[in-house]
Amino acid sequence: MSVLPILEFPDPRLRTRAEPVRVFDAKLKQFVADLFETMYAANGVGLAATQVDVHQRVLVADMSDDRKQPLALINAQILEKEGSQVYQEGCLSFPGLYADVTRALKVKVKAQDLDGNEIVVEAEGPLAVCIQHEMDHLDGKVFVDYLSSLKRALLLKRLDKQRKQAASA
Ligand SMILES: [Zn+2]
Repeated sequence: MSVLPILEFPDPRLRTRAEPVRVFDAKLKQFVADLFETMYAANGVGLAATQVDVHQRVLVADMSDDRKQPLALINAQILEKEGSQVYQEGCLSFPGLYADVTRALKVKVKAQDLDGNEIVVEAEGPLAVCIQHEMDHLDGKVFVDYLSSLKRALLLKRLDKQRKQAASA
């Protein structure tokens, strides 16, 4: 397994729309294992293939405290959404940046597992946020797209400042 480099905003490759996965082979399993390793190494709770510059509809998540509930969704589609919640989100492509985003409280998602079998996952609360956030990445969308332009400009300025400080440290 290997840790893959994560693209950081504003890398234009984060705007790529991912293609459906059609081949469920050993290469896909290896890629998913690498995604998990990359996510765990970065202390993230979710990661989409787009973020490692692979433009296929693959996402991984693990919201558990002990990091032992890996969830991999291939070709995920939202079947139903219910309610709404505001959750403070972060993103491995925006290190150190957090912002409140409003999303559905519950989602019912149809996807495929690593062998191509259809699975249906019902998620609520933080896991539902995570799945919606990662699915957005596969469509080239990032969480700051939900903010007002003023709020987004302020956050991106802060991100820029953090980067400059990190570069000069
Ligand atoms: Zn993200």
